[in-house]
Amino acid sequence: MQFDFDNKQRKEILETTFEKLENFYSKTKDFKTNPDLNIKEIRESIYSKELVNGISPEKAIEHVTKELETFSVHTPHPKYFGLFNPRSNYAGIIADLITATYNPQLAAWSHAPFAVEVEELLIREFANKFGYDKNSDGVFTTGGAEANLTAILCALNHKYPNFAKDGMFGLNKKPIIFCSEEAHHSIQKAAKVVGLGYNLVKSIPITDELKLDTNILQEELKNLDNSEYSPLMVIGTAGTTGTGTIDALNKLSSICKKNNIWFHVDAAYGGGAILSQDLKQQLSGIEKSDSITFDAHKWMSVPMGTSIFLTSKSEILGKTFRITTEYMPKEADMLTVTEPFTHSIQWSRRFIGLKVYLSLLFYGWKGYEETINHQAEMGKYLKNQLKKNGWIIKNNTDLPVICFTKEEFETDFNFTKEVLNNILSNGKSWLSVYPIKGTPTFRACITNYNTTEKDIDELIDELNNEVKSYARQ
Ligand SMILES: *Cc1c(COP(=O)(O)O)cnc(C)c1O
Repeated sequence: MQFDFDNKQRKEILETTFEKLENFYSKTKDFKTNPDLNIKEIRESIYSKELVNGISPEKAIEHVTKELETFSVHTPHPKYFGLFNPRSNYAGIIADLITATYNPQLAAWSHAPFAVEVEELLIREFANKFGYDKNSDGVFTTGGAEANLTAILCALNHKYPNFAKDGMFGLNKKPIIFCSEEAHHSIQKAAKVVGLGYNLVKSIPITDELKLDTNILQEELKNLDNSEYSPLMVIGTAGTTGTGTIDALNKLSSICKKNNIWFHVDAAYGGGAILSQDLKQQLSGIEKSDSITFDAHKWMSVPMGTSIFLTSKSEILGKTFRITTEYMPKEADMLTVTEPFTHSIQWSRRFIGLKVYLSLLFYGWKGYEETINHQAEMGKYLKNQLKKNGWIIKNNTDLPVICFTKEEFETDFNFTKEVLNNILSNGKSWLSVYPIKGTPTFRACITNYNTTEKDIDELIDELNNEVKSYARQ
């Protein structure tokens, strides 16, 4: 068995791969958005006998690309109006290939000084964009879930100076995490992972504007006086997953200041608004937070596995994650550098930040501003066309997330279900259903830099046709 390939073979492998990728990238719209979920067929498509001796690289590449094309929801499709999964931009795709080839080890500064310094620069740039001062800090994470988990750990280490040593056993009261009932489930999950348990996540009801109700939050905080509980942190969401709503960040910040509690903003999706002069004021108040989650793999359209955790407290990441070891290289001891392993849950760490760095080198902040404005424009266009076609809009946000329904079917729970099923099985578009205060609505989000007015017109035609046939039944 030959483990390495020669130059000619490598070229052939890359060409075969390029041909497949190019076909998908340039013709994404020709693919069905939604696969048939035939579990038997899917499992049968996976090779297992072939694992013993292997097959030719060409056959292997042919196999995996074909099955990925057949059995995936195509999030890069221009009519994927789904969750915050973008079409990967080309710089990001190339960055993943480069990272895999050089495979720099970002646990220690001295092993990958260029890569670590690139990430450091990006952390400073993003901190600056979000309005943090020079004393801020941050780290690249695999996703928003890891960034939110990092936020909870930082809040614990900030409030309880001995937490790193004594853990939960050193606490005299049970710490409570407040967020809205529309906040992301990764917060409950993080509470489980940390060992707090999700009972200590208090979900505050939302107002008619679908924002965390700050009056209820203040009452809940008062109720904790003289109890066995103590407030740990408040998590505001900037761009809820369901409705794209931004919580009242300024108000939340002043409540947190007054009560001396950590204020985290989960801006996994909505944080992208900071890159647009037209949209950034929507995030006003985020600069007063103690920490921020921002997923570059959402609105910045880089491939998955790319998120950023930022904090305005420069010492806290080190306090939370530093550990001393004998086997880490010590060459950088004398230099004032950040050792990534002292800032992160991860140890061996890939060059996550290259996807963002290369994207900025390809498109610049300017290019990002244009694509984010374009997507916000497409959101407005979708909203207006829906209204013109007799749909009612149930959420209110400047981010391109639109929740809508038909007045006459608002209480008919079968309506959204049936229309959605038909649209998904046609495979021309992808959207979802999201309940707002108990009423199911269609949820369509623009997450693709290539989505055009024509794509949106086609979606509305599909919806209108489905409504007609539903009404005829
Ligand atoms: C997507 C999302 C998350 C989770 O982030 P991942 O990158 O999927 O781990 C957390 N919070 C919000 C608001 C999100 O939209």
